[in-house]
Amino acid sequence: MEYRTYKKNGNKVSLLGFGAMRLPTLENGEIDEERAQKLIDLAYDSGVNYYDTAYMYHDGKSQSFLGKALKKYDRESYFITNKMPVWMCDTKEDVDRIFNEQLKLCGVEYFDYYLIHSLDSDKWDKCLEWNVYEYLDEKRKQGIIRNLGFSFHHTPDVLERIVNAKQWDFAQIQLNYLDWEYQDAKTQYEILEKNSIPCIVMEPVHGGALAKLPDEAESVLKEVKPENSIASWAIRYCASFPNVLTVLSGMSTEEQVVDNLKTMTNFEKLSDKEQEVLQQALHIYKSTTLIPCTNCKYCIDCPANVNIPEVFRFYNDYKFNGNPQWLLYNLSTLGDRGSENCVGCGACLEKCPQKINIPEQLSKITELANSLK
Ligand code: SF4
Ligand code: SF4
Repeated sequence: MEYRTYKKNGNKVSLLGFGAMRLPTLENGEIDEERAQKLIDLAYDSGVNYYDTAYMYHDGKSQSFLGKALKKYDRESYFITNKMPVWMCDTKEDVDRIFNEQLKLCGVEYFDYYLIHSLDSDKWDKCLEWNVYEYLDEKRKQGIIRNLGFSFHHTPDVLERIVNAKQWDFAQIQLNYLDWEYQDAKTQYEILEKNSIPCIVMEPVHGGALAKLPDEAESVLKEVKPENSIASWAIRYCASFPNVLTVLSGMSTEEQVVDNLKTMTNFEKLSDKEQEVLQQALHIYKSTTLIPCTNCKYCIDCPANVNIPEVFRFYNDYKFNGNPQWLLYNLSTLGDRGSENCVGCGACLEKCPQKINIPEQLSKITELANSLK
């Protein structure tokens, strides 16, 4: 197993971190503890020492499972993390209640790494109002939290604000080769690096989307490394950044654990040539999966008043975020300017410099939206 040393505290952290948010489940949705324990044991025996849980994973049950699963191992031989969900707190007092509950649920005296969960601008304002940082900082001083950080889902300017406001030991961001530009993970990573804050990567495979690419894109990768899985490219991409402390993978099957272990044992950074090949695959992925609308608005005077570029923008964003409710909501905001209003007159076809078959794409999106309802 490859390890990264956090200079500030000397922690040797495995480059592969185990995210306990997608553990194997039984038919009734409960964690399949026997199978999940086997995955933890396999990871631990292979050198993984970073285990990540949160208050809401598996309806709160990930915490107690993980605590139990790790109990048989020497407490100093692994790092366990947990997170404060400020959006689940109705009052300031809930922060204290949840934190103490988490220690109990995990059966630990301290958390090695502790994060304020999923910060954005609003949640950060709530933290400031309730002195959440100060509360957790006190726990850090008492040794109940060994390293204090936050996970983040918002824009780089908000990240900069949070980074500059307090003393953080680490931060967790969504980083993968798709979001590098799309979610501006690049700027986020650079902000952390500039401030010497080690970066923990979440969603390296973009929720599984980068584990299976269109055939043409997969061929490009397979030609260079026929024996490597498609997901392993995504993991290696993230792990190749020097300021990354660990790459979290929410593993559900033995196959995924074995594949990730293979990638992170005798880890090799992506070479320049491999980076190039990965960009080629990404280009194919984008061009075959997304509608290449540039929002030039040449088509905006549609006689049926369809807001074509907005429909396409929502569709493309959905291809990235994979959230059907999000797509349905955004399409509904278009009112009578949605894709379903296209009458197929074809007037837009010659106006589109990208040669998009607009009525055909609109019809597909209408069909998709209907199937998601
Ligand atoms: S084909 Fe549809 S989208 Fe294009 S101009 Fe006609 S009604 Fe509008
Ligand atoms: S003309 Fe084509 S590229 Fe331009 S906004 Fe319309 S669909 Fe998009």
